[in-house]
Amino acid sequence: MDDGLSRFRHERASHVMVLGAGITGVTTAWFLRRAGFRVSVIERRDEAAQETSFANGGQISVSHPEPWANPLAPFIALRWMGRAGAPLKLRPRLDAEQWQWMIGFLRECLPWRSRRNTAAIAALAVHSLAELRQLREVAGIADSYDARGQGVLHLFFEAVSFARAQNRIRELGVLGIELRSCTAMQCAMIEPALAASIPWLAGGLYAPDDESGDTMRFCQALTQVLAAEGVNFHYGAHIERLRAANRRVTEIEVCHAGGRDTLPADAVVVCLGSYGRRLLRPLGEHLPIYPLKGYSVTAPVSDALCAPRVSLTDESRRIVCSRLGERLRIAGTAELNGYGLEIDPTRITAMLEWAETRLPGAIDCGRAMPWAGLRPSTPGGVPIVGRGERHENLWLNTGHGTLGWTLACGSASTLAALMRGETPPVQFPFWGG
Ligand SMILES: Cc1cc2nc3c(=O)[nH]c(=O)nc-3n(C[C@H](O)[C@H](O)[C@H](O)COP(=O)(O)OP(=O)(O)OC[C@H]3O[C@@H](n4cnc5c(N)ncnc54)[C@H](O)[C@@H]3O)c2cc1C
Repeated sequence: MDDGLSRFRHERASHVMVLGAGITGVTTAWFLRRAGFRVSVIERRDEAAQETSFANGGQISVSHPEPWANPLAPFIALRWMGRAGAPLKLRPRLDAEQWQWMIGFLRECLPWRSRRNTAAIAALAVHSLAELRQLREVAGIADSYDARGQGVLHLFFEAVSFARAQNRIRELGVLGIELRSCTAMQCAMIEPALAASIPWLAGGLYAPDDESGDTMRFCQALTQVLAAEGVNFHYGAHIERLRAANRRVTEIEVCHAGGRDTLPADAVVVCLGSYGRRLLRPLGEHLPIYPLKGYSVTAPVSDALCAPRVSLTDESRRIVCSRLGERLRIAGTAELNGYGLEIDPTRITAMLEWAETRLPGAIDCGRAMPWAGLRPSTPGGVPIVGRGERHENLWLNTGHGTLGWTLACGSASTLAALMRGETPPVQFPFWGG
């Protein structure tokens, strides 16, 4: 009987090259190693997680599977357009990739597509959290990445949006995700650092199962475990081109400080964040990924009683805030503006002002470290997990957009199952075949 997955079955590759050592690459290496493959990782930086996985919001936010592409998004984007400090900034460019992506985004805003995407992301997120919990115990890294399991509290400062958000409790409940509605007072009981915000707070939705932690520290701890288990990490190696013949990727051309090398490829998994699209285009593989820039600031906690321990999401400002040990990370905003990583100081100031207003006295703003990263985003928010459309030994685990930390363990374990020819543990629209 055809279970619909037969298209993924093929002879087992013995040696897999994972391209990229961000959160998707490192977790892919872990699950492939566990599945019995020999694994090497190629990364242009000198360590793991130096790009988008470096200083993200830190939330394992299973309770936020709704993609940005939803029926209200075009109206919200229009309202925000040209407004200084708006969470979304769109700068149209003479860039076909950007326009294709925007058209795709509008299509994914159709109600049925948005519902379908939410269900796919939710299934992967629920599975991912279970895999993360198991991974950190087996790998012995639970204490290595400032993990917190105190949930995520979604805050609403407008009564209308809080009333509208009540539907999410039922909708996500059907998908196996628990959310509890809270009054402003209850929010402050869950997170006492919110006491100063009570007069402005309309209410909150509390997701008790969500978590937070430092993605970069997680990646680096896991990398050490993997290296000790025999996974080869080729750092400082910039992948310039993939060569292919007879529907197979045959070689990976890399450039490094010592010159150039050509590495043979038995099987390849692309985990290159926003850069996989351009590398694969010459092979005729089209990935609908475009970078969505976001910012964060990380500042030392100056008064532990004023700094939250529960991870927070301000739904009106699209800002998230996570306690990472003795630091607080505040992150948010989205700019559809190409691959540039320059930091707009007004974005940083706005996030620090948010911290001073909502959590007065919590952090030392003078020592805040600003950062910007490119979310590798698909129009519908659903990551690309599966096989390339034209090459049978080319696999993809990329395009995780706003939720790479939340979804990484789930997509990596699912891909490993596909590559072993097994039935994957989640219902998901897998790529290619
Ligand atoms: C501001 C912000 C806040 C966020 N907050 C959250 C959050 O709270 N929760 C959450 O779940 N997600 C969050 N995200 C999203 C999450 O950070 C990303 O989805 C995730 O980091 C993407 O991981 P990745 O492995 O795909 O990409 P990356 O981490 O960018 O890894 C790709 C790797 O490939 C390497 N590479 C690229 N090209 C080449 C090449 N040619 N040769 C060799 N190596 C190459 C890069 O150096 C990099 O190490 C946030 C993102 C941002 C920007």
